Amino acid sequence: TLEIPRADWQCKLVVIGDSGVGKTSVMRRFTDNEFSFNFVATIGIDFKVRTIKVKEKMIKVQIWDTAGQERFRSITTAYYRGAKGVIIVYDITSLKSFSHVNNWVINFNRWAGDDVQALLVGNKCDLEDQRVVTKMAGEKLAKEHGMEFSETSAKDCTNVDIAFMRILEKIVEKH
Ligand code: GDP
Ligand code: MG
Repeated sequence: TLEIPRADWQCKLVVIGDSGVGKTSVMRRFTDNEFSFNFVATIGIDFKVRTIKVKEKMIKVQIWDTAGQERFRSITTAYYRGAKGVIIVYDITSLKSFSHVNNWVINFNRWAGDDVQALLVGNKCDLEDQRVVTKMAGEKLAKEHGMEFSETSAKDCTNVDIAFMRILEKIVEKH
């Protein structure tokens, strides 16, 4: 018989970061194990769900994705409401997206709750020949803001589950 996993607990994560860094791709890789060079951008706010075992508990993870409104001013309380974790994504081939991480930190510090865990993700690590942000720079920035850190490739499926597990374990530990 087919067993539908029963969740012990639900948890909302939100994904933020500049447009084009791979937020939708990282989320889709995690929830549906899919990748495409042209996911159609939906308008507004979208979310996907995956139930996963974290520290012996089944967690129904709801991941919210900004769709085409990646300006700091348009992401406020409504988006963060009830979120237990924030994932900031930049692109390791884009210095601009990395330099904007500080603005995204300011944004979630202002609008998200106090007890949110944060994870910094340097995505597109398959494009090593185009890399402009070192792994050390990413790690350093994450440490400065008390965030977990991972480099991922949504395309090659590198580290995506590991990155999500890193923040989910922190969240489960706290609750
Ligand atoms: P978003 O605007 O942050 O949601 O970014 P998308 O997920 O739409 O991705 C933007 C573009 O980058 C798309 O063409 C993706 O296929 C591509 N992309 C996303 N992740 C990766 C990755 O890990 N490696 C490579 N090479 N391309 C990626
Ligand atoms: Mg997107």
